[in-house]
Amino acid sequence: MELLPLLQRLAAEADPGSGRVADYIPALASVPKDRFGIAFAPLEGDVIGAGDWEQPFSIQSLSKAFTLALVLSRVGEALWTRVGREPSGNPFNSLVQLEHEQGIPRNPFINAGALVVTDWLCQLEADPVGHLLSFLRRESGNPDLVVDPAVAASEADHGHRNAALAHFMASYGNLASPVPVVLDAYFRQCAIAMSCRDLARAGRFLARHGTGEGAARLMTRSEAKRMNAVLLTCGTYDAAGDFAYRVGLPAKSGVGGGILAILPGRGTLATWGPALDERGNSVAGLEALDRFTTETGWSVF
Ligand code: GLN
Repeated sequence: MELLPLLQRLAAEADPGSGRVADYIPALASVPKDRFGIAFAPLEGDVIGAGDWEQPFSIQSLSKAFTLALVLSRVGEALWTRVGREPSGNPFNSLVQLEHEQGIPRNPFINAGALVVTDWLCQLEADPVGHLLSFLRRESGNPDLVVDPAVAASEADHGHRNAALAHFMASYGNLASPVPVVLDAYFRQCAIAMSCRDLARAGRFLARHGTGEGAARLMTRSEAKRMNAVLLTCGTYDAAGDFAYRVGLPAKSGVGGGILAILPGRGTLATWGPALDERGNSVAGLEALDRFTTETGWSVF
């Protein structure tokens, strides 16, 4: 199958429809909604792409996949004492479930769960975001990746809900670091800017069963399998069921409009379309991934 013409067709036909750019983080609201990029990274070799595939955008919740990988590979199963791994069925920033579940978030990809993972990274590393950036620079092959300070500041200024989640978990004893330290690291990890090309490359270790660039083992084969399982069931928030139905791949989305999807044993796909549906997933990205797996037959099913 010739992939580049397929990516070019998907980019040319991308349509944000009635989707809306996230505006609860004001610095994201000015991104034009008709931008679209798509990239495919095979297990080895060059990434191919179409549309705005080399344009950096705010990775937002996509960062949660990478922080989970860093922490899971260091602390192993102990992680699951502080965060669950079941789909939430609630919006990514919901507070209600947390009280029922006594401060143990349902999974690592809703905001509360990601704050726990970031807290753990703060305990493991003196400079958690610097550590994440070095990992992403190495795996993406792009030494210029940085945090966008305007996006981080904008989110910090409007981060009342995340602050509420963090304080609430602290009240249950489920944060080890001070709340401001965890929030600062979380806002900055979300504000890292990457392109589809960068993301597709950086995610390849999940398609290679845990092996990163230069054949470095980043996690065990079993951990990579588990990461992909949690991505499939929880990576697109309360739309994970519909995403599995339409696309059939482990994936993580973010409110900057990015989606990174893993094709285990084959490669990775990254899309960017800033207009989101009501559950916070990119309208054009979801459609393109649906069409990609439908036309190629490359899903995990
Ligand atoms: N930084 C965003 C937030 O915490 C990330 C949310 C997302 O991408 N779903 O609200």
